[in-house]
Amino acid sequence: TIAYKDGAWQRGEVKPYGPLSLAPSASTLHYGQSIFEGFKAFTQPDGSIGMFRPDANAERFNRSAARLAMPAIPPELFLKAADELVRIDQAWVPKNVGESLYMRPLMIATDPFLGVRPSLEYLFVLIASPAGAYFPQGVKPVTVWISEDYVRAAPGGTGEAKCAGNYAASLLAQAQALDKGCDQVVWLDAVHREYIEEMGGMNLFFVYKEDGQTVVATPELTGTLLPGITRQSLLELGKQLGFITREQKLTVRNWRDDIASGRMTEVFACGTAAVITPVGKVKAHGFEFAINNGENGPVTMALREALLAIQHGTAPDTRGWMHKI
Ligand code: PMP
Repeated sequence: TIAYKDGAWQRGEVKPYGPLSLAPSASTLHYGQSIFEGFKAFTQPDGSIGMFRPDANAERFNRSAARLAMPAIPPELFLKAADELVRIDQAWVPKNVGESLYMRPLMIATDPFLGVRPSLEYLFVLIASPAGAYFPQGVKPVTVWISEDYVRAAPGGTGEAKCAGNYAASLLAQAQALDKGCDQVVWLDAVHREYIEEMGGMNLFFVYKEDGQTVVATPELTGTLLPGITRQSLLELGKQLGFITREQKLTVRNWRDDIASGRMTEVFACGTAAVITPVGKVKAHGFEFAINNGENGPVTMALREALLAIQHGTAPDTRGWMHKI
Protein backbone atom coordinates (compact mmCIF):
# COMPACT_ATOMS: atom_id res chain seq x y z
CA THR A 1 0.00 0.00 0.00
CA ILE A 2 1.06 3.58 -0.69
CA ALA A 3 -0.86 6.49 0.83
CA TYR A 4 -1.37 9.86 -0.84
CA LYS A 5 -1.78 12.84 1.44
CA ASP A 6 -0.76 16.49 1.70
CA GLY A 7 -0.49 16.46 -2.07
CA ALA A 8 2.21 13.76 -2.22
CA TRP A 9 2.71 10.01 -2.32
CA GLN A 10 4.08 8.74 0.97
CA ARG A 11 6.51 5.89 1.65
CA GLY A 12 5.02 2.54 0.64
CA GLU A 13 4.50 -0.39 2.98
CA VAL A 14 4.46 -4.14 2.28
CA LYS A 15 1.97 -5.99 4.48
CA PRO A 16 0.50 -9.49 4.65
CA TYR A 17 -2.86 -9.71 2.88
CA GLY A 18 -5.62 -8.60 5.24
CA PRO A 19 -8.44 -6.11 5.80
CA LEU A 20 -7.91 -2.41 5.21
CA SER A 21 -9.03 0.15 7.73
CA LEU A 22 -11.32 2.84 6.29
CA ALA A 23 -13.54 5.53 7.76
CA PRO A 24 -17.25 4.79 7.14
CA SER A 25 -17.36 8.23 5.52
CA ALA A 26 -14.43 7.46 3.18
CA SER A 27 -15.48 8.95 -0.12
CA THR A 28 -14.72 5.85 -2.20
CA LEU A 29 -17.59 4.10 -0.39
CA HIS A 30 -20.09 6.83 -1.20
CA TYR A 31 -19.06 8.41 -4.47
CA GLY A 32 -17.15 5.63 -6.16
CA GLN A 33 -13.74 7.17 -6.60
CA SER A 34 -12.11 3.82 -7.21
CA ILE A 35 -9.94 2.74 -10.14
CA PHE A 36 -7.98 -0.41 -10.80
CA GLU A 37 -5.82 -2.29 -13.28
CA GLY A 38 -4.95 -5.88 -14.11
CA PHE A 39 -1.76 -7.30 -15.59
CA LYS A 40 0.15 -10.55 -15.36
CA ALA A 41 3.61 -11.84 -14.44
CA PHE A 42 4.84 -14.98 -16.20
CA THR A 43 7.72 -17.35 -15.44
CA GLN A 44 10.21 -17.20 -18.31
CA PRO A 45 12.10 -20.22 -19.69
CA ASP A 46 15.27 -19.17 -17.82
CA GLY A 47 13.34 -19.08 -14.54
CA SER A 48 13.19 -15.29 -14.37
CA ILE A 49 9.92 -13.37 -14.13
CA GLY A 50 8.49 -11.16 -16.88
CA MET A 51 5.46 -8.91 -16.66
CA PHE A 52 3.45 -8.14 -19.80
CA ARG A 53 3.34 -4.41 -20.55
CA PRO A 54 2.86 -3.10 -16.98
CA ASP A 55 3.99 0.31 -18.26
CA ALA A 56 0.88 0.39 -20.47
CA ASN A 57 -1.24 -0.44 -17.42
CA ALA A 58 0.44 2.36 -15.45
CA GLU A 59 -0.41 4.77 -18.25
CA ARG A 60 -4.05 3.65 -18.44
CA PHE A 61 -4.27 3.79 -14.63
CA ASN A 62 -3.29 7.45 -14.75
CA ARG A 63 -5.79 8.18 -17.52
CA SER A 64 -8.47 6.57 -15.33
CA ALA A 65 -7.22 8.65 -12.39
CA ALA A 66 -7.54 11.86 -14.40
CA ARG A 67 -11.14 11.02 -15.40
CA LEU A 68 -12.09 10.28 -11.79
CA ALA A 69 -10.42 13.48 -10.52
CA MET A 70 -7.78 11.46 -8.68
CA PRO A 71 -4.03 12.17 -8.51
CA ALA A 72 -1.63 10.44 -10.92
CA ILE A 73 0.87 7.98 -9.54
CA PRO A 74 4.38 8.24 -11.03
CA PRO A 75 4.73 5.24 -13.39
CA GLU A 76 8.11 4.41 -11.76
CA LEU A 77 6.36 4.07 -8.40
CA PHE A 78 3.64 1.86 -9.95
CA LEU A 79 6.28 -0.41 -11.52
CA LYS A 80 8.45 -0.43 -8.40
CA ALA A 81 5.49 -1.60 -6.31
CA ALA A 82 4.91 -4.46 -8.76
CA ASP A 83 8.60 -5.43 -8.81
CA GLU A 84 8.88 -5.36 -5.03
CA LEU A 85 5.79 -7.46 -4.52
CA VAL A 86 6.98 -10.21 -6.88
CA ARG A 87 10.52 -10.10 -5.48
CA ILE A 88 9.23 -11.10 -2.05
CA ASP A 89 8.68 -14.60 -3.37
CA GLN A 90 9.11 -15.44 -7.03
CA ALA A 91 7.54 -18.84 -6.33
CA TRP A 92 4.20 -17.00 -6.25
CA VAL A 93 4.40 -16.88 -10.04
CA PRO A 94 3.10 -20.18 -11.46
CA LYS A 95 5.32 -21.94 -13.99
CA ASN A 96 2.90 -23.73 -16.31
CA VAL A 97 1.85 -22.37 -19.71
CA GLY A 98 -1.51 -20.63 -19.37
CA GLU A 99 -0.82 -19.77 -15.74
CA SER A 100 0.48 -16.52 -14.31
CA LEU A 101 0.46 -14.24 -11.31
CA TYR A 102 -2.37 -11.73 -11.75
CA MET A 103 -1.50 -8.30 -10.37
CA ARG A 104 -4.30 -5.99 -9.31
CA PRO A 105 -3.44 -2.36 -8.55
CA LEU A 106 -6.25 -0.34 -6.97
CA MET A 107 -6.63 3.29 -5.94
CA ILE A 108 -9.40 4.45 -3.63
CA ALA A 109 -10.40 7.76 -2.08
CA THR A 110 -9.96 7.59 1.68
CA ASP A 111 -10.92 11.11 2.71
CA PRO A 112 -13.40 10.97 5.63
CA PHE A 113 -15.59 13.73 4.23
CA LEU A 114 -19.27 13.57 3.27
CA GLY A 115 -19.37 16.49 0.82
CA VAL A 116 -19.29 15.70 -2.88
CA ARG A 117 -15.87 16.79 -4.09
CA PRO A 118 -12.67 14.97 -5.03
CA SER A 119 -11.01 13.40 -2.03
CA LEU A 120 -7.76 14.86 -0.70
CA GLU A 121 -6.43 11.49 0.47
CA TYR A 122 -6.01 8.26 -1.43
CA LEU A 123 -4.67 4.78 -0.97
CA PHE A 124 -2.89 2.81 -3.68
CA VAL A 125 -3.04 -0.93 -3.04
CA LEU A 126 -1.45 -3.72 -5.06
CA ILE A 127 -2.57 -7.30 -4.54
CA ALA A 128 -1.57 -10.42 -6.47
CA SER A 129 -3.16 -13.78 -7.02
CA PRO A 130 -2.14 -16.84 -9.06
CA ALA A 131 -4.33 -17.24 -12.14
CA GLY A 132 -5.19 -20.23 -14.26
CA ALA A 133 -7.57 -20.25 -17.20
CA TYR A 134 -10.28 -17.55 -17.09
CA PHE A 135 -13.02 -19.78 -18.48
CA PRO A 136 -13.04 -23.12 -16.64
CA GLN A 137 -13.70 -25.05 -19.86
CA GLY A 138 -10.32 -23.93 -21.27
CA VAL A 139 -10.00 -22.70 -24.87
CA LYS A 140 -13.50 -23.51 -25.98
CA PRO A 141 -15.73 -21.01 -27.69
CA VAL A 142 -17.96 -19.02 -25.38
CA THR A 143 -21.55 -17.95 -25.90
CA VAL A 144 -22.30 -14.24 -25.60
CA TRP A 145 -25.46 -12.24 -24.89
CA ILE A 146 -26.05 -8.93 -26.66
CA SER A 147 -27.27 -6.52 -24.03
CA GLU A 148 -30.24 -4.61 -25.44
CA ASP A 149 -31.75 -3.83 -22.05
CA TYR A 150 -28.75 -2.20 -20.37
CA VAL A 151 -26.02 0.18 -21.45
CA ARG A 152 -22.49 0.19 -20.04
CA ALA A 153 -21.27 3.67 -20.87
CA ALA A 154 -22.57 6.86 -22.44
CA PRO A 155 -20.60 9.51 -24.37
CA GLY A 156 -18.84 11.80 -21.94
CA GLY A 157 -19.12 9.21 -19.16
CA THR A 158 -16.46 7.03 -17.60
CA GLY A 159 -16.54 4.15 -20.12
CA GLU A 160 -12.92 4.61 -21.13
CA ALA A 161 -11.71 4.52 -17.52
CA LYS A 162 -11.14 1.35 -15.58
CA CYS A 163 -13.24 2.48 -12.63
CA ALA A 164 -15.35 0.50 -10.20
CA GLY A 165 -18.62 2.15 -11.23
CA ASN A 166 -18.47 0.75 -14.76
CA TYR A 167 -18.39 -2.74 -13.32
CA ALA A 168 -21.12 -2.06 -10.78
CA ALA A 169 -23.34 -0.92 -13.65
CA SER A 170 -22.59 -4.09 -15.61
CA LEU A 171 -23.32 -6.71 -12.95
CA LEU A 172 -27.04 -6.94 -13.67
CA ALA A 173 -26.45 -7.28 -17.42
CA GLN A 174 -23.87 -10.00 -16.77
CA ALA A 175 -26.40 -11.78 -14.52
CA GLN A 176 -28.94 -11.56 -17.35
CA ALA A 177 -26.39 -13.05 -19.76
CA LEU A 178 -25.81 -15.98 -17.39
CA ASP A 179 -29.54 -16.39 -17.00
CA LYS A 180 -29.84 -16.67 -20.79
CA GLY A 181 -27.27 -19.44 -20.82
CA CYS A 182 -24.42 -17.19 -21.99
CA ASP A 183 -20.93 -16.71 -20.58
CA GLN A 184 -20.52 -12.99 -21.15
CA VAL A 185 -22.39 -9.87 -22.12
CA VAL A 186 -21.72 -7.85 -25.33
CA TRP A 187 -22.26 -4.10 -24.96
CA LEU A 188 -23.73 -1.86 -27.61
CA ASP A 189 -23.20 1.88 -27.93
CA ALA A 190 -25.50 4.03 -25.82
CA VAL A 191 -26.67 6.40 -28.57
CA HIS A 192 -27.73 4.19 -31.47
CA ARG A 193 -27.91 0.96 -29.51
CA GLU A 194 -26.58 -0.90 -32.53
CA TYR A 195 -22.79 -0.54 -32.71
CA ILE A 196 -20.81 -3.27 -30.99
CA GLU A 197 -18.52 -1.94 -28.31
CA GLU A 198 -16.92 -4.63 -26.15
CA MET A 199 -17.66 -7.46 -23.71
CA GLY A 200 -17.97 -7.49 -19.93
CA GLY A 201 -14.25 -7.79 -19.35
CA MET A 202 -12.79 -8.14 -22.83
CA ASN A 203 -12.51 -6.45 -26.20
CA LEU A 204 -13.90 -8.07 -29.34
CA PHE A 205 -12.28 -8.92 -32.67
CA PHE A 206 -13.88 -9.98 -35.96
CA VAL A 207 -12.12 -12.00 -38.64
CA TYR A 208 -13.30 -11.66 -42.23
CA LYS A 209 -12.15 -11.99 -45.80
CA GLU A 210 -11.65 -8.99 -48.06
CA ASP A 211 -10.23 -9.32 -51.59
CA GLY A 212 -8.70 -12.65 -50.64
CA GLN A 213 -6.97 -11.24 -47.57
CA THR A 214 -7.74 -11.88 -43.93
CA VAL A 215 -8.83 -8.86 -41.92
CA VAL A 216 -8.72 -8.86 -38.13
CA ALA A 217 -10.86 -5.94 -36.97
CA THR A 218 -11.94 -4.52 -33.63
CA PRO A 219 -14.47 -1.78 -32.78
CA GLU A 220 -12.82 1.63 -32.89
CA LEU A 221 -12.26 3.50 -29.64
CA THR A 222 -15.26 5.75 -29.21
CA GLY A 223 -14.55 7.00 -25.71
CA THR A 224 -17.12 4.60 -24.27
CA LEU A 225 -15.16 1.36 -24.34
CA LEU A 226 -12.03 0.30 -22.54
CA PRO A 227 -8.83 0.67 -24.61
CA GLY A 228 -7.61 -2.84 -23.86
CA ILE A 229 -3.89 -3.48 -23.77
CA THR A 230 -4.41 -6.93 -25.28
CA ARG A 231 -6.52 -5.29 -28.01
CA GLN A 232 -3.74 -2.83 -28.85
CA SER A 233 -1.11 -5.60 -28.76
CA LEU A 234 -3.14 -7.75 -31.17
CA LEU A 235 -3.53 -4.90 -33.66
CA GLU A 236 0.28 -5.02 -33.90
CA LEU A 237 0.77 -8.79 -33.63
CA GLY A 238 -1.90 -9.49 -36.23
CA LYS A 239 0.04 -7.45 -38.79
CA GLN A 240 3.18 -9.43 -38.01
CA LEU A 241 1.26 -12.65 -38.69
CA GLY A 242 0.30 -11.31 -42.12
CA PHE A 243 -3.25 -10.17 -41.42
CA ILE A 244 -4.71 -6.75 -42.11
CA THR A 245 -5.62 -5.27 -38.74
CA ARG A 246 -8.18 -2.53 -38.50
CA GLU A 247 -10.29 -0.49 -36.09
CA GLN A 248 -13.79 0.07 -37.40
CA LYS A 249 -17.46 0.37 -36.56
CA LEU A 250 -19.69 -2.68 -36.78
CA THR A 251 -23.43 -2.92 -36.20
CA VAL A 252 -25.25 -5.98 -34.90
CA ARG A 253 -27.07 -6.16 -38.25
CA ASN A 254 -23.81 -6.25 -40.22
CA TRP A 255 -22.42 -8.78 -37.79
CA ARG A 256 -25.37 -11.11 -38.42
CA ASP A 257 -25.25 -10.54 -42.20
CA ASP A 258 -21.50 -11.15 -42.44
CA ILE A 259 -21.76 -14.37 -40.48
CA ALA A 260 -24.77 -15.52 -42.51
CA SER A 261 -23.02 -14.80 -45.83
CA GLY A 262 -19.85 -16.57 -44.72
CA ARG A 263 -17.73 -13.42 -45.19
CA MET A 264 -16.95 -13.34 -41.47
CA THR A 265 -15.37 -16.57 -40.33
CA GLU A 266 -14.29 -16.03 -36.72
CA VAL A 267 -14.96 -13.82 -33.71
CA PHE A 268 -12.91 -13.74 -30.54
CA ALA A 269 -12.63 -11.84 -27.30
CA CYS A 270 -9.37 -10.69 -25.72
CA GLY A 271 -8.19 -9.35 -22.41
CA THR A 272 -5.55 -9.80 -19.76
CA ALA A 273 -7.55 -12.37 -17.82
CA ALA A 274 -8.98 -14.40 -20.72
CA VAL A 275 -6.04 -13.87 -23.16
CA ILE A 276 -7.89 -14.80 -26.37
CA THR A 277 -11.14 -16.72 -26.28
CA PRO A 278 -13.17 -17.72 -29.34
CA VAL A 279 -16.82 -16.70 -29.51
CA GLY A 280 -18.89 -19.62 -30.81
CA LYS A 281 -22.44 -18.42 -30.39
CA VAL A 282 -24.29 -15.12 -30.11
CA LYS A 283 -27.71 -14.71 -28.51
CA ALA A 284 -30.08 -11.78 -28.13
CA HIS A 285 -33.81 -11.23 -27.66
CA GLY A 286 -35.40 -12.94 -30.64
CA PHE A 287 -32.39 -14.37 -32.46
CA GLU A 288 -29.23 -16.36 -32.13
CA PHE A 289 -26.47 -17.46 -34.48
CA ALA A 290 -23.40 -19.67 -34.39
CA ILE A 291 -19.91 -18.65 -35.51
CA ASN A 292 -17.53 -21.11 -37.19
CA ASN A 293 -19.88 -23.96 -36.18
CA GLY A 294 -19.09 -23.17 -32.55
CA GLU A 295 -15.49 -24.27 -33.00
CA ASN A 296 -12.08 -22.68 -32.40
CA GLY A 297 -10.92 -20.90 -35.56
CA PRO A 298 -7.40 -20.93 -37.04
CA VAL A 299 -6.80 -17.15 -36.99
CA THR A 300 -7.98 -16.91 -33.38
CA MET A 301 -5.73 -19.77 -32.31
CA ALA A 302 -2.71 -18.44 -34.25
CA LEU A 303 -3.01 -15.06 -32.52
CA ARG A 304 -3.47 -16.76 -29.18
CA GLU A 305 -0.34 -18.87 -29.65
CA ALA A 306 1.68 -15.85 -30.78
CA LEU A 307 0.62 -13.76 -27.78
CA LEU A 308 1.16 -16.55 -25.23
CA ALA A 309 4.61 -17.28 -26.71
CA ILE A 310 5.70 -13.68 -26.12
CA GLN A 311 4.23 -13.65 -22.61
CA HIS A 312 5.84 -16.95 -21.64
CA GLY A 313 9.15 -15.94 -23.24
CA THR A 314 9.23 -18.69 -25.88
CA ALA A 315 9.10 -16.16 -28.75
CA PRO A 316 11.38 -13.12 -29.10
CA ASP A 317 10.06 -9.94 -27.52
CA THR A 318 10.82 -7.62 -30.42
CA ARG A 319 8.68 -4.76 -29.11
CA GLY A 320 9.99 -4.59 -25.55
CA TRP A 321 6.64 -5.66 -24.15
CA MET A 322 8.11 -7.84 -21.41
CA HIS A 323 9.21 -6.07 -18.25
CA LYS A 324 11.81 -8.34 -16.63
CA ILE A 325 12.34 -8.18 -12.90
N1 PMP B 1 -12.94 -4.28 -21.55
C1 PMP B 1 -13.24 -4.33 -20.24
C2 PMP B 1 -14.54 -3.78 -19.78
C3 PMP B 1 -12.32 -4.89 -19.33
O1 PMP B 1 -12.61 -4.96 -18.03
C4 PMP B 1 -11.10 -5.42 -19.81
C5 PMP B 1 -10.11 -6.02 -18.86
N2 PMP B 1 -9.22 -5.05 -18.34
C6 PMP B 1 -10.83 -5.33 -21.20
C7 PMP B 1 -11.78 -4.75 -22.03
C8 PMP B 1 -9.53 -5.83 -21.76
O2 PMP B 1 -8.46 -4.98 -21.41
P1 PMP B 1 -6.99 -5.54 -21.24
O3 PMP B 1 -6.60 -6.18 -22.51
O4 PMP B 1 -6.19 -4.32 -20.95
O5 PMP B 1 -7.01 -6.51 -20.12
